[in-house]
Amino acid sequence: VFGNVVQAPEDPILGVTVAYNKDPSPVKVNLGVGAYRTEEGKPLVLNVVRRAEQLLVNDLSRVKEYLPITGLAEFNKLSANPAIQENRVATVQCLSGTGSLRVGAEFLAKHYHERTIYIPLPTWGNHPKVFTLAGLSVKTYRYYDPTTRGLNFQGLLEDLNASPTGAIVLLHACAHNPTGVDPTVEQWEQIRQLMRSKELLPFFDSAYQGFASGNLDADAQSVRLFVADGGELLAAQSYAKNMGLYGERVGALSIVCRAADVAGRVESQLKLVIRPMYSNPPIHGASIVATILRDRELYNEWTVELKAMADRIISMRHLLYDALRSRGTPGDWSHIIKQIGMFTFTGLNTEQVAFMTREYHIYMTSDGRISMAGLSSRTVPHLADAIHAAVTR
Ligand code: PMP
Repeated sequence: VFGNVVQAPEDPILGVTVAYNKDPSPVKVNLGVGAYRTEEGKPLVLNVVRRAEQLLVNDLSRVKEYLPITGLAEFNKLSANPAIQENRVATVQCLSGTGSLRVGAEFLAKHYHERTIYIPLPTWGNHPKVFTLAGLSVKTYRYYDPTTRGLNFQGLLEDLNASPTGAIVLLHACAHNPTGVDPTVEQWEQIRQLMRSKELLPFFDSAYQGFASGNLDADAQSVRLFVADGGELLAAQSYAKNMGLYGERVGALSIVCRAADVAGRVESQLKLVIRPMYSNPPIHGASIVATILRDRELYNEWTVELKAMADRIISMRHLLYDALRSRGTPGDWSHIIKQIGMFTFTGLNTEQVAFMTREYHIYMTSDGRISMAGLSSRTVPHLADAIHAAVTR
């Protein structure tokens, strides 16, 4: 009965790792997936996470019962923006950032009057699929300007201004993926004013809090501007990158409402979205996060380790920039040090990317995005050689 099922293509991002794993070359480098690596090229489990896990293991009162549909209550409370004292937020633990986006989108498709969501062009490749499958209709707004390799702020304002009243707008809270280009605080304020005046509904995707500046509060500024004006918003948070909890699938969806009674009703409907989908979320990752967030000493240790990850990424930006300069590689590469977060949007085209993979065993997404977190001082010269060869060919 399944004989007619056609072979599906690999995921454009995760497929890069599949190809990388098949390559026997000893010099191969994987810059495809957005996961942090140490200077030795190894995955990193934060020391603070190990400590939290130790505490959990030693606590024999802990059992493996089901969590409620909404997840671990303490995790939800600690994840919700501390600026929200007014009790007007419904927060549910979800399966990392992706699951939070999906649950939020399913809720909107069912309970919100406007089904169109505007996403930046370009954006993370999974966004259109998540929102379309949830029943929303996806449109784009201009975001990136390839000529300046910066923000197309004018285009962004024009497109949001031309969108229908009430439309949903997906915003990357910080460290925009794939471009590494973020609005300034002043620009965020202009975006906020325009969106509030047109009653556009912000849906923040916060997958990299702490990775842009190395500071959790600074990276939350965009979201907090929109919380401070008392209006509504959604926020999907992921602890995959900033706590290195990728495979634990721990995240939170917060729906900020105008009043506490509304938030209560919203939460009751979120439960109806979650229960038939996966019933309730897993307990381990959320327990790690709650253990760290509730304890001042562990929290401080986390911020130090997070800053160290962000700093290593920034130092890779400088190394790569200097390496291209010293090779005299044609072009202006200053965007490598200007862009923010885990990725550099190099400006290399599909053909150049294919050349670098073929000749240099360097793996990255075909849009020319490279994960700076996958680089080390050992691999930067090899990458610089490859880029130089690709652009001077
Ligand atoms: N949003 C963006 C912009 C991302 O880059 C990612 C991860 N690549 C996610 C959401 C979701 O990640 P996860 O589900 O692993 O938390």
